[in-house]
Amino acid sequence: MSFQLKIPVLTYHSMNISGNTYAENDHLALASDLETISEVGFRVIPLSQVVDWHQGSISDEEVARTVAITLDDGSWFDYYDLDHPSWGVQRSMFNILRDFNERGASTYKSHATSFVISSPQARALLDKRCMIGKDWWGDQWWVDAVASGIMDVECHSWDHVHPDLDEVAQQDQLKGDFTQVKTFNDADVQFAKAGEYIASVLGNRPSLFAYPYGPSSDYVVNEYLPKYQSRHQFRAAFSAESRSVSKTDNRWTLPRFICGYDWRSPEELEGILRSA
Ligand SMILES: [Zn+2]
Repeated sequence: MSFQLKIPVLTYHSMNISGNTYAENDHLALASDLETISEVGFRVIPLSQVVDWHQGSISDEEVARTVAITLDDGSWFDYYDLDHPSWGVQRSMFNILRDFNERGASTYKSHATSFVISSPQARALLDKRCMIGKDWWGDQWWVDAVASGIMDVECHSWDHVHPDLDEVAQQDQLKGDFTQVKTFNDADVQFAKAGEYIASVLGNRPSLFAYPYGPSSDYVVNEYLPKYQSRHQFRAAFSAESRSVSKTDNRWTLPRFICGYDWRSPEELEGILRSA
């Protein structure tokens, strides 16, 4: 038996702020976790390199003892410091990464991939219904985030099939996750149209996708994504399966760990890294 390299992919939600402790606040968790990752002798690499390795274009040696960081939903808390109405000013995920890099505490530059909801209309409505209606879910920051080299912007579907939207791209209005995205028309909006909008802002089509809430459907994984790749232009998709990525994983259901569910403390993160 030879050793099989595995790479953990960590996921944070910058809107998860219900206090100012590690367990209550994904910003504080990320800041702490960057230190833990470095102390345990791991380094952060861009998610695109995890996919390069998975698809065979970079070697095991280049990605030994690495981890990738992802952010879901793409609210302004990813990029801008914002004054949270209950919990005060929150350092953005972007600025936490930048602070870490500028301190020069590690030999590498930390990096994160932000999976954004594509539809501007969906984000505008969710801003009113899930946040506090301050227009904190726009895409004005995407270009600067990518240009910084610290953050990539990738795709978290057209509308997240979000329960708080009046209408979603699912033929029977079955909301909640991607298990009911089972037709070409629905999938083509959630993937191809979503990618087109992101490209209209950034200039390039996104190549990585994260399923809202984690699960997907057989149609998406076995039909739409493998058969229409020239149309949607994605090369991998991520679930929330709570494992590290290994070479044998299906490229359309790569696993990720979720902060607050799969680990809740620096010690639990260390456990994930040490078992990778
Ligand atoms: Zn999400």
